[in-house]
Amino acid sequence: MRRFAGSCRFVYNKALVLQKERHEKGGKKLGYAGLCRLLTEWRHSEKTAWLADAPIHPLQQALKDLERAYTNFFAGRANFPQFRKKGRSDSFRYPDPKGIKLDQANSRIFLPKLGWLRYRNSREVLGTVKNVTVSQSCGKWFVSIQTEREVETSRPKGGTVGIDLGIAHFATLSDGTFFAPLNSFKRHEVALRKAQQSLSRKVKGSNNRKKALARVQKIHVRIANVRRDFLHKVSTAISKNHAVVAIEDLKVGNMSRSAAGTADAPGKNVHTKSGLNKSILDQGWYGFRRMLEYKLSWKGGRLVAVPPQNTSRTCPRCGHVSADNRQTQARFVCVACGYENNADVAAAINILSRGIQLLRDEGQDTANALVGMQVDWLPASARMACGSNRVGGRKQEPAEALSAGR
Ligand SMILES: [Zn+2]
Repeated sequence: MRRFAGSCRFVYNKALVLQKERHEKGGKKLGYAGLCRLLTEWRHSEKTAWLADAPIHPLQQALKDLERAYTNFFAGRANFPQFRKKGRSDSFRYPDPKGIKLDQANSRIFLPKLGWLRYRNSREVLGTVKNVTVSQSCGKWFVSIQTEREVETSRPKGGTVGIDLGIAHFATLSDGTFFAPLNSFKRHEVALRKAQQSLSRKVKGSNNRKKALARVQKIHVRIANVRRDFLHKVSTAISKNHAVVAIEDLKVGNMSRSAAGTADAPGKNVHTKSGLNKSILDQGWYGFRRMLEYKLSWKGGRLVAVPPQNTSRTCPRCGHVSADNRQTQARFVCVACGYENNADVAAAINILSRGIQLLRDEGQDTANALVGMQVDWLPASARMACGSNRVGGRKQEPAEALSAGR
């Protein structure tokens, strides 16, 4: 399995080198089909004949992963594709369910070129198998089975809410609810730093270095587990009680830029945004958004991503945009109309009204969207919509909206 993971990593990196070279020469990027033809050549060439020992579909999947990495980069969702490193997320995926046999009664699975493998069951597999991923973490091998099945969509419960993601609070809802940040990392941060320092003192290639490296990786895995657990809890709590959730459409590039700033205008939050906490949140926000999206869709709800510009500087009441509205980090005071609120809550309200605006632009009925919101927090445009919905037939008494708030 380590060899197969290595072959996939080799193919991914070789293809990335090739694409980079083509780009430097001013050539066009090779498409997936072209890369697959090259893969066949590599498997037949004497120098890399060992690639033929690995199953073909996982190797092709590695090329698909690279395609995806490029697409995400060009769409502004991710940084430029990086080389895969040995020991860092060693994995390979069988994208084709043909050739995979799952025998749950005996806790075993058949994978091409690996044969029958026993596994320790963590949960029942429901639906038809679509693909299988084999991965290694801390010396243990895992198998993830993706399946497909029909589920009945239930009617979503609750109203609409906006979420502001941040450092001081992990998430702030437009109704004033806060979710505390992931403080449990402080403890791990110290342990990680110590382990990394110890690692740096070890002689390269020595057994002690290997042990120290294993210790560092173990802490990384623990951090990842704590983070995943935290994100699952928060996303479940929010998706359970809301039908539509508006969130900022954050992009990785923008976030790292906003932290470091430029030479002319250095960033203000470099300290709080840098280091471990930053990297955890960067990854956390994406994982969080993904979880929220699928959990909402399971319940028949929806996630709306809104443009993030000026959400923290705009007055939710009069719409005045100014950096002066934020005299302190925590408090929002509008210099035009005097509106006052917690800064994160104000941002969440802006995100919410942008989300409602987006739904309305799509021609969605936003009558239900306003249930659960406090009316006087809404900008003038949204309040008008509340009135027009009453005319539209749905009895949506403002009093009801008020009592349903908070
Ligand atoms: Zn104002």
